[in-house]
Amino acid sequence: MKRIKQVCSRVYQVGGNGLSNPEDCCVYMVDGGSASAVIDAGAGASAGRILENIANAGFELDAIKYIIVTHGHIDHIGGLPVWARQLKGQIVAHELDLPAVAQGIPRLTAAGWYGVDYQGVNVDIVLREPMQPLQVGDLSLNFVHTPGHTPGSIAVYLDVEGQRFLFGQDIHGPFNPEWGSDLKQWRGSMQKLLELKADILCEGHFGIYTPAARVESYIKSYLERMG
Ligand SMILES: [Zn+2]
Ligand SMILES: [Zn+2]
Repeated sequence: MKRIKQVCSRVYQVGGNGLSNPEDCCVYMVDGGSASAVIDAGAGASAGRILENIANAGFELDAIKYIIVTHGHIDHIGGLPVWARQLKGQIVAHELDLPAVAQGIPRLTAAGWYGVDYQGVNVDIVLREPMQPLQVGDLSLNFVHTPGHTPGSIAVYLDVEGQRFLFGQDIHGPFNPEWGSDLKQWRGSMQKLLELKADILCEGHFGIYTPAARVESYIKSYLERMG
């Protein structure tokens, strides 16, 4: 059974429902040739399975230079402790979600929802700017701080093969004051994402949306729903 989904020649979905475990968020890999990056780590139980998916598809695990964390919820970070031990890559997360990602505060990670015991990991690269670039092999990734779902939520975009890919995990919410969710900030974040005019949205739980008009209507539908 094929356990990796090609989005384009440089972008793959390597984990998530149907590929690893239904509890996992959609996990993506960006292949920059000499180096690659994975985006989010799933809930934890299938952390090894996701690495198998990548290796079985012919990719070198040692080429994974960055492990990018879009926000500190357990379905996105549960696999980090295993990956921190098994991969050479550096963990990248936003400063404002470090209490979840690095300290593992259960109220913030929602680990209890999944019955996962998460202790936190060392974050190697801490994002602090509203926008920040990162070179992955021959690809330029860009981080956008998109607070709302959590204070340190980020989206990632890159331009490849004439198309703009946007990785937007949990941009639909939900919102919970316990996590520090902020609807006003979220509306501003969604406007930022709309301005990017992405052609392809790699979403965190529902998969892949394209073309650009569908990406736009996806984001706008949530903006309208939340008033
Ligand atoms: Zn979330
Ligand atoms: Zn999620």
